[in-house]
Amino acid sequence: MDKIRIENLEVFANHGVFPEETKLGQKFLVSITLHVDTRNAGKTDDLSKSVNYGEVSHFATDFLRTHTYHLIETAAEQLAEAILYTYLPVREVNIAIKKPWAPIGLPLESVAVEITRKWHKVYLAVGSNMGDMETYIRRGIDAMSSLKDCRVKRVSELIVTKPYGVTEQENFLNGCLEIETLLLPLELLELLHEIEAAADRKRELRWGPRTLDLDIIFYDDEVIGLPELMVPHVDMANRSFVLKPLAEIAPYMIHPIYRKTVAQMLSELKEREKGNEKDHIV
Ligand code: AMP
Repeated sequence: MDKIRIENLEVFANHGVFPEETKLGQKFLVSITLHVDTRNAGKTDDLSKSVNYGEVSHFATDFLRTHTYHLIETAAEQLAEAILYTYLPVREVNIAIKKPWAPIGLPLESVAVEITRKWHKVYLAVGSNMGDMETYIRRGIDAMSSLKDCRVKRVSELIVTKPYGVTEQENFLNGCLEIETLLLPLELLELLHEIEAAADRKRELRWGPRTLDLDIIFYDDEVIGLPELMVPHVDMANRSFVLKPLAEIAPYMIHPIYRKTVAQMLSELKEREKGNEKDHIV
């Protein structure tokens, strides 16, 4: 993606671990790279189609002057988030904060922290088979969209499906959603568990009845193999109740390991299930 760069913006502010740093203040040099699609602005010569770097420079200066942090790590983290929340066309931001006068008792040119933060595109599967299923699902989605660091972009239709795994239980209502989030994979998993818990979800039986189930299907095109989190979801290729709603909102999304589109995976699953009783869509 195109980039707009602000280099070595001088800001006098009060971040630091030592009391004299927070009291007297010192100079910081801030560099900001905004990842923005500038094509439209480039073609039309219209500033409203880009991000105004003057405005961002003033925003960063005010932000760093009006907040005080011990660490430049925190200053960079908070500033990155504030820019991503405020300037919608910015998909990714890189921030470097240099401290040329760092009081370490040794001569140095500067010390710096540099971070990159971005909106991640994530697909989630959602399901319920207890109580008022649709309300549990809608409330879960609302809970997510009420958070600053998650934006719900698309929601598939909800479909009624037969239970999978433990089959002696009520039918399910299933769907998929596309979100954008600043959360990292494990932070997102923790959030999903909190939203499930708020829906009175109890983890009693694997594949058993549940008020609300939220699974991460894709996280950008990352492959994650942790004991507590596997992405893409390991069993998605065998689950028509995931692939069908997912194919509605992301048919051309490519599975980063199988290198197949969602639409292709769905049609292959239908082929495998042809003639047997395994089709789970009601
Ligand atoms: P479930 O009963 O479907 O909610 O299973 C949840 C458990 O599976 C969670 O506690 C996670 O640690 C683990 N897990 C592994 N991979 C995923 C994933 N892609 N999305 C959600 N949970 C996952």
